[in-house]
Amino acid sequence: MRILKTPAHKYLFLISALGILFSTFLIKIPQYSQMDWIIIFSVSGSILILNYYIIQMPPKGNALSMDSSIYLASLFLYGLQFTLLVLCIHSIIFAALQRKIAWWKHLFNFSIYSLMIIGAYYAFIFTDGYIGDIQINNIVPYLLSLCTYFILNLLLVGLYFIFEATENLVNFFKEFIKETIATYFSALVLSLVLVILMKTEELFGLTLFTCIAFLLSLAFKQHFNLFKEISEKANKDFLTGLNNHGYFKEIFEKEVATAKECDQPLSLVILDIDDFKKYNDLYGHIQGDQLLQEFGALLKAECDAANFIVARYGGEEFSIIMPNTNCDTAFSFMNELRKKANDTYIKGVEGLPYGCLSFSSGIAECEKETYSISELLNKADQAMYAAKNQGKNLVEVYNEHSEYSLQRSLSLEKDLEEAEHQLKIFLSKDVYTYRHSKRVYQYAVDFSRVLNLSDHERKTLILGALIHDIGKIEVPRDLLNKKGKLEPHEWETMKKHVTWGKEIISTNKKLEDLIPLVELHHERYDGNGYPYGLKGKSIPKLARILCVIDSFDAMTTERPYQKTKTFQEAIVELHECAGKQFDPQFIEPFITMIKQLDHSGEELEKELVTVS
Ligand code: GH3
Ligand code: MG
Ligand code: MG
Repeated sequence: MRILKTPAHKYLFLISALGILFSTFLIKIPQYSQMDWIIIFSVSGSILILNYYIIQMPPKGNALSMDSSIYLASLFLYGLQFTLLVLCIHSIIFAALQRKIAWWKHLFNFSIYSLMIIGAYYAFIFTDGYIGDIQINNIVPYLLSLCTYFILNLLLVGLYFIFEATENLVNFFKEFIKETIATYFSALVLSLVLVILMKTEELFGLTLFTCIAFLLSLAFKQHFNLFKEISEKANKDFLTGLNNHGYFKEIFEKEVATAKECDQPLSLVILDIDDFKKYNDLYGHIQGDQLLQEFGALLKAECDAANFIVARYGGEEFSIIMPNTNCDTAFSFMNELRKKANDTYIKGVEGLPYGCLSFSSGIAECEKETYSISELLNKADQAMYAAKNQGKNLVEVYNEHSEYSLQRSLSLEKDLEEAEHQLKIFLSKDVYTYRHSKRVYQYAVDFSRVLNLSDHERKTLILGALIHDIGKIEVPRDLLNKKGKLEPHEWETMKKHVTWGKEIISTNKKLEDLIPLVELHHERYDGNGYPYGLKGKSIPKLARILCVIDSFDAMTTERPYQKTKTFQEAIVELHECAGKQFDPQFIEPFITMIKQLDHSGEELEKELVTVS
């Protein structure tokens, strides 16, 4: 059939067919009394009411309906046929009232519920559950019945998302269980409450329950609206109504993670109004505020239309997140926006140097290797300042090879001196780490030449190699110098050196570019490293290179508890671990370089000791 094109469609069809088949087979309308029919319609009516008066839960407003409590109560009290009949009547009325929802969705929903109810019923019966009364000392059937109901719900809905391929399997199950487990247990408790109520006062019991659920729904609605109002206030900038700085960072982090996960481009823009101080000086701060508001409204209209997320970054600076957009498209958009701003008249702009409203902006595109959001913000910021330096009213895309980026790059000699200074602390505490760092540094000098790295990358790698183990300063002395294998808890402490190292160098803004090397040089290409278990190209390139160099030196160096490998043995090991521990693309060039060094480890050692 043409409509059954995708696996998701086929799945929908199969479940709907199964649900209808089982229900038709199981529903036999016996001779119900008039009172029975009144109860059947009343229970269906209650479910209908509870489907409209749902409970909305912060933060996302996920809706809980208490209808499952009623289905379960009906199952425990009146059995399967009665409950399926209730489901049937409810579904027909609901479908008639909600004609905007596609018919196949109604059908699928009905089938899922019928399969859940049938499953829960048989779990109840097979574990000797007694229909018609509550036997609370025999709780197992109730629990098993609920678990079956829950698991069937999880599987039937989960499989749909998997066939649709909109969700990652593990993530879906994790989120679903986290969000619904409490709901399902409350559904069980409430269903037992309802059974007790209906056992003593059938219709009045049901009415009481429905009223309580209705009032709860109203209370939760108010609570949810209040939550929405407060969180909106907390996330918005009071002057322009745009997202504020804090919220921007939160969304930005998520968007970058999504872009990397889905392998999609993402661009970030920082823009700064030109000569705004002058405007304030000319017309006062109140009019300045007015301009910010009007400019904010222009930004919002343009960004909303393009599905971009705009925020007031601070003062007269704004930021735009552009999901699924490369820097070329971002550039065209920003240039158009710049022209629109130039053409938008705001009172007093004729007094500005360009005689119009203008801004300068910088764009940076997220790459697979982008390590942190601050790295991207820095790049966009630099590009923005470059636009300012070139005369303002300009849009500039960040370029690694441009002058401003090189100016910023680490000044090797001076910084090497500083790093050396820090490293000398190891001399008294752990001479091994000191000498290891010096050797790794030397390999980095040679290898960066072999790899033809850019100037900035070369400096970052060399300096990073020198101080990559700086976090070991925090590791207790007896652990560092322990002769013999580390115990598991000691190993855990040792592993923390990468995080401690990051913390140490984070205090120095100049060393920001080295953070990935210090923090991630123990990540493995196959994802089994630490501290995050990053995999493949999501580990920054320089950290992948450093991992090879660092490990090679560790293999070939003499340590009291570890058998030293010869260069030949270490080369074999590098080959073996290519693609597992190491990025294979760096293995061959590194081995060629090692072979070309044309001397034994001892000679190299000698040379380096002289340097130190
Ligand atoms: P440039 O073109 O180099 O960006 O120059 P500029 O004058 O725009 O930048 P500068 O950083 O020198 O001045 C920014 C001014 O923005 C200074 C500050 O008083 C003003 N400002 C920041 N926040 C607000 C605000 O909320 N309202 C008003 N009215 N002014 C603000
Ligand atoms: Mg500014
Ligand atoms: Mg400015």
